[in-house]
Amino acid sequence: MEKIKITFPDGSVKEFDNGATGYQIAESISQRLAQDALAVEVDGNVKDIRVPINNNSSVKFLTFNDDKGKEVYWHSTSHLMAHAIQELHPEAKFGVGPAIESGFYYDIDIDTQLTESDLAVIEKKMEEISKQDNPFVRQDLPKSEAVSFFKEKGDNYKLEILSEINEDHEDISIYKEGNFIDLCRGPHLPSTGKIKYIKLMNISGSYWRGDEHNKQLQRIYGISFPKKKMLDEYLLKLEEAKKRDHRKLGKELEIFLITPAVGTGLPIWLPKGTILRETLENYLREEQRKRGYLPVITPHIGNINLYKTSGHYPYYKESQFPPLKLEEGKEEYLLKPMNCPHHFQIYLSKPRSYRDLPIRYAEFGTVYRYEQSGELNGLTRVRSFAVDDSHIFVRQDQLKDEVCNVIELIQVVFDQMGFKDFETQLSFRDDNLEKYGGDISLWDKAQKELVEAADKMKLKYVIKDGEAAFYGPKIDFMVKDALGRRWQLGTVQIDYVMPERFNLEFTGSDGQKHRPVVIHRAPFGSMERFIGVLIEHFAGEFPLWLAPVQCAVLPISQNYFEYAKLVNAELLKKKIRTEFDDRNEKVGFKIRDWETKKVKYMVILGDKEEKANNISVRQHKTGDLGSLSLDEFVSKLQNEIKNKI
Ligand SMILES: [Zn+2]
Ligand SMILES: [Zn+2]
Repeated sequence: MEKIKITFPDGSVKEFDNGATGYQIAESISQRLAQDALAVEVDGNVKDIRVPINNNSSVKFLTFNDDKGKEVYWHSTSHLMAHAIQELHPEAKFGVGPAIESGFYYDIDIDTQLTESDLAVIEKKMEEISKQDNPFVRQDLPKSEAVSFFKEKGDNYKLEILSEINEDHEDISIYKEGNFIDLCRGPHLPSTGKIKYIKLMNISGSYWRGDEHNKQLQRIYGISFPKKKMLDEYLLKLEEAKKRDHRKLGKELEIFLITPAVGTGLPIWLPKGTILRETLENYLREEQRKRGYLPVITPHIGNINLYKTSGHYPYYKESQFPPLKLEEGKEEYLLKPMNCPHHFQIYLSKPRSYRDLPIRYAEFGTVYRYEQSGELNGLTRVRSFAVDDSHIFVRQDQLKDEVCNVIELIQVVFDQMGFKDFETQLSFRDDNLEKYGGDISLWDKAQKELVEAADKMKLKYVIKDGEAAFYGPKIDFMVKDALGRRWQLGTVQIDYVMPERFNLEFTGSDGQKHRPVVIHRAPFGSMERFIGVLIEHFAGEFPLWLAPVQCAVLPISQNYFEYAKLVNAELLKKKIRTEFDDRNEKVGFKIRDWETKKVKYMVILGDKEEKANNISVRQHKTGDLGSLSLDEFVSKLQNEIKNKI
């Protein structure tokens, strides 16, 4: 029999019979691997584990530990759910059912409006089908056959999807599992029995293809795991995430307010939130000052012509508030969707020489976007937000070093916030050159230099072709918070298009005019989003240097108010952010209350303290720290604040 050579991830090569399946190959390694393997990656393409392999190939087995393995697992569970729904509601029609970052969903069209209590019934049915251990069987077929099958089934949604597939370019396949058949590219698990622990999370409405003119389908979200322990851990994490929800904590800790009286998606910073935000801004300002950034301030609106030049208007019209028209005449203004064009005007305000570059303008600049109201979410999706923006004008030969400088700043900032684990994506162009502006040879050079910069700065990165902005390649930073959730925060973007559109120039050493390259960058991304993430990351228990209230002063009765006032005044004088609790309440009640406010230190004052001219200190979650002199306490706090512990 003809043999094929299979190369494994560790580089080892083994021979197998031509037509051996992934499962057989896994089995030859170990029974355990054959059991755990959910799918197989053959030369980079994920396939069903039972598909025969007919060529020399590189093979990697995917288990639940791999992201791609999870994807197969969760997508297969979405079929299982659709199957269960078909059993319970035979009239059901199905939209799409993909895997998502955590779990899966399926959009369904049935006559009954489902409620949360129906989910348990569906779950039970799913468990039944899982136990049948039906194999997922793939069948490739001509388009006409697929069309007549779904016509007979009366499934218009699948017919609509089919009508858009060009069979010359794409194989058409269906997957059968028990008596449930779905139009699907796969890949899938070998059988339903692999799906062990299932939890359906919730139901929401979803317009077919996201278009509100179409029928609203019911979208059911769920998740599944091969081990009970994994499901339990996931649910526990979800519970913890709920407790940390920045919308809930933002209200309890008086950080921000969003009220329809002002407008949806327009956050208002309350005093405590403002202190938090200003502390972060000042921290970044100081780091930027050390690195040669120059502060600027620009207006919240700009002449519409500025945005016609940049191309933001009319191309991004949909995501902007409509222009403000002056009564008198023709002038129109736009709430600024971006800070860039304003900063370009500063660059243009005088002639620039090659010796002046890099020039780094920085501003916490508020921008306005008209997000759909359904998309708005606390501080993380809003209609007005401040970007910790900077535009850096560099010569092409300075680009790489400057990108390294920016990466270094972002690393310092993330490290300070306790985001120890972050990944980056280098978003590059693809071969569809029409999509991109500027000189393509410069792009290639920039992409090469971005990789060099990323390597030099020891970034963990993936390269994604085709995800660049139209004006240049970029680096996006994804952080993992304390619960392991991923957030996209900082960004560094190279721009070859705006310098042309705004005719930015400098005089080179050759006396000729040259174009600078622009770097747009924001370590936080936006103050709103960053603080939303930070609240959840710290669960509202901010490190002392960031905490809006660092200390509360609690006299145990009115008899000690005078002494407590003196202590409080002394703390304020030493720049400790303190609050004086003069409520006529028992000290036990006050302590419990300040615990819920997550304030780190409480100064308790009574007879003993007044006589000894000292203070008693309690620490949040830790308890009694004993008696200290006020000076000792102040220097302890100052030390913590200074070192940002
Ligand atoms: Zn599928
Ligand atoms: Zn910009």
